[in-house]
Amino acid sequence: MKRSVFKIILELIKLIGSFIGIILLAVLMGTIGFILAMNITVFGALAIIKFLNINVALSYTTIFIVIIASGILRGLVRYCEQYFNHYIAFRLLAIIRGKIFDKLRELSPAKIIQSDIETLEVFYAHTVSPFLIALLTSTCVVLFIGLMTSWTLAIVALVSYIIIGIVVPVIYYKVNNKYGIEYRKNLGIFEEYYLDSIYGHYEVLSSGNEGNRLEKVSNMSKSLIDLNKGLDKKATLFKNVTNTIIVIMNILIVLVGSYLLKNNLIESPMIILAYVTLTSSFGSVLALAQLPGNLAMTFASGNRVLDLLEEKPMIEDNKTDNPFVFESLEIKNVSFKYDKTYILSNVIMNINKNEIVGILGPSGCGKSTLLKLLMRFYDVDGGEILYNGRNIKEISIKDLYDNVNLFSQTTYLFTGTIMENLLIANPKATQEEVIEACKNASIYKYIKSLPKGFDTKITDLKDNLSSGEKQRLGLARVFLRKPKLLLLDEATSNIDAINEGIILNALKRYKQDMTVIMISHRKSTLSICDRIYELKKGDIINES
Ligand code: ADP
Repeated sequence: MKRSVFKIILELIKLIGSFIGIILLAVLMGTIGFILAMNITVFGALAIIKFLNINVALSYTTIFIVIIASGILRGLVRYCEQYFNHYIAFRLLAIIRGKIFDKLRELSPAKIIQSDIETLEVFYAHTVSPFLIALLTSTCVVLFIGLMTSWTLAIVALVSYIIIGIVVPVIYYKVNNKYGIEYRKNLGIFEEYYLDSIYGHYEVLSSGNEGNRLEKVSNMSKSLIDLNKGLDKKATLFKNVTNTIIVIMNILIVLVGSYLLKNNLIESPMIILAYVTLTSSFGSVLALAQLPGNLAMTFASGNRVLDLLEEKPMIEDNKTDNPFVFESLEIKNVSFKYDKTYILSNVIMNINKNEIVGILGPSGCGKSTLLKLLMRFYDVDGGEILYNGRNIKEISIKDLYDNVNLFSQTTYLFTGTIMENLLIANPKATQEEVIEACKNASIYKYIKSLPKGFDTKITDLKDNLSSGEKQRLGLARVFLRKPKLLLLDEATSNIDAINEGIILNALKRYKQDMTVIMISHRKSTLSICDRIYELKKGDIINES
């Protein structure tokens, strides 16, 4: 969905929620910081005014103490401001990540996400509070100059802040936006192509395609460098424009001050005070002038993150408290289509506890789709899936996943040790249970043969782990989780006959505890099944 920048800002701010107090604290610290920084120059000016024999109520000692104290406190409050801002930003990123994760679970594994969350740090740590700090600091300075010196000079100050803090950044954003988005898009394409070339280097080399790939990578990176140079040029241009405007504003203040002085509308010490205050007060609005370079990307990322958070789930989770322990499964006249064409129509199956049931069928006939429906990744378009006679839609997703597990062709191993990878399936499992699961999955001997055993890091194994060993680790995970119904989606199709035999035998040993539905396009794989359903394109044909 395309949102206006204003709407994106509003939606992102809404996510701040209970952190608003800390944001206000950061803003307060930031404002005090800028005022303290200005104190150093302003009190320095007061010392000069006093030196010129003009009456200043403060003693040199007081002025000196204020300058030193302002310097020290400035450092402290600046640290606190940065600390609070980043505390909020990173806590918020963690919360947004959590929300995205929950959303992804809700949306079913059929959805993917671009990782845009990191970019939002710019918004939370470097946009919201700098804006409020600039607003507050500028208001304080305008009031100070107005009350202490002249309201005419206060208006000049206000106009300068609006030009430097709002007009220039908005123009910069408008000019930069298009190029920023283009750079980001091209960078994404480049990274994808580059990683593809690295992961697929065997294929690239064996097809003699490396020259073309290399040339394309080189061209893409050259055009990225050009785009980046263009962005840098614009950043420098706007920096110079801002600095020029500051100089012009300073001249204007001197001119207006001189006019006021000539017409006896202000006293000369006050002109010095106003001038020093103003020239030292641009820091906070200058911080805004540098924002737009990153904002285009931040808003684009924000838009995508908000899109995902607002996405409606494909299935509605029924969270009612009605526990479920798998006893039987009935697939009743089930039909399903991804788009317009029906992949499954009128599928009928009955599966009882402790059976091993096979589903045989050619590639593309809808076997995996059927298992996905049993996991409720999607809802059926016709008919019903009944567990223990209850419609799958009445069972909570948590209860469903506690009972039914899907084990597919490849096992994904996370960075971490073998033990950590196994415990993902059941974090509460004892050492004995892990060992037993590994023995049953025939992977224990292999793990013991490794110098660090269960503490071996997956990254240390690199290519030494065969796909058969990976699948056996996956099977150990299944045994640790002990699902009541296990769905095997071609779980042995990528491994050799010996490993396949090991896995099938292990499954047979679990028959008392587990019901298994396994799909395969190979009849031999299904030899351990009690019954086999044959699926042809579109529907179930017969049972044998
Ligand atoms: P099988 O497991 O029997 O090989 P699948 O269930 O994977 O078959 O796929 C059945 C058909 O559905 C195929 O034509 C496939 O291209 C299509 N299909 C699978 N997943 C999707 C999807 N997410 N969106 C659209 N079509 C899909």
